[in-house]
Amino acid sequence: MNHHYQNIIASIFDQIKAEENPGAVAAYIPELAHVDPNLFAVSLKLLDGQSIDYGNHNTGFSIQSISKVLLLCMVYKEIGEKIWERVDVEPSGNPFNSLVQLESDNGIPRNPFINAGALVISDILIDLYDDPSTAFLDFVRDLTDSVSINYSDVVTESELKNGFRNAALCNFIKSFGNIKNNPDDVLRLYSQICSVEMNCLELCTAFSFLANGGKKTSDQKQILTKSQTKRVNAIMQTCGFYDESGEFSFRVGLPGKSGVGGGIVALFPGRYVITVWSPKLNPKGNSYRGMKFLELFTTATEESIF
Ligand code: GLU
Repeated sequence: MNHHYQNIIASIFDQIKAEENPGAVAAYIPELAHVDPNLFAVSLKLLDGQSIDYGNHNTGFSIQSISKVLLLCMVYKEIGEKIWERVDVEPSGNPFNSLVQLESDNGIPRNPFINAGALVISDILIDLYDDPSTAFLDFVRDLTDSVSINYSDVVTESELKNGFRNAALCNFIKSFGNIKNNPDDVLRLYSQICSVEMNCLELCTAFSFLANGGKKTSDQKQILTKSQTKRVNAIMQTCGFYDESGEFSFRVGLPGKSGVGGGIVALFPGRYVITVWSPKLNPKGNSYRGMKFLELFTTATEESIF
């Protein structure tokens, strides 16, 4: 099985690496624009712990919106189904930082993976912990079994200095009463959560519990119930790729999440987690090579959840 995946990954990796590398690195957070656009990495981790790595897989990158899944899981674990009173579970069909639907939806974000939704969940996190920033990092370090995972202060500050749209979103939601804390505190925590850096294998490890019925694979600790795990995976399937979520589902057929740092993590429940990282994004904000790699991968393996 492992050998089978290895051959497929090697051949797709080499094929894509030899092709043109279109798209553009995210520059609206200036610090993200400093990354080498030609870096390209993939890791696949099976639930028994075996892994296959290719390319620049030891290089850490800004996981950005991928962090929103971990944030959702942490708060969902704490407060359970009550979370859905503050954020919905519908695909937005709009860009990740769009303001338009909030007006007609009375400040209830369409889902936890658009910026509006993650801002509301960051607000809930502030009410749950004295030091929410440390608590989130501890949660992520526990999932990855790695104490070296950290925030990037330069990326956090770069986003805060230029995040006028997120500031608008946060203040707009506050005007509907769905942000309880000071918007500046919410924005800081949110930007910090997005600034977490990991390499491809660490990201696979962090997401392994979602492919394993909610249990961490290393020590079998139950992070989410099976039902909660189903729900988080379902939201990734329908909302994980901004307004290209249908396209990702159509081409790849796995639940997953992307971030503007160029990372994509996808998982096959009961089998594996796969992460691809390539910083150049398509016009919808998803890694061009990441989308292509995963489409070719599920086509070649003839395995998807459908
Ligand atoms: N921190 C980024 C933002 O708020 C996250 C965007 C993303 O990865 O989708 O714009």
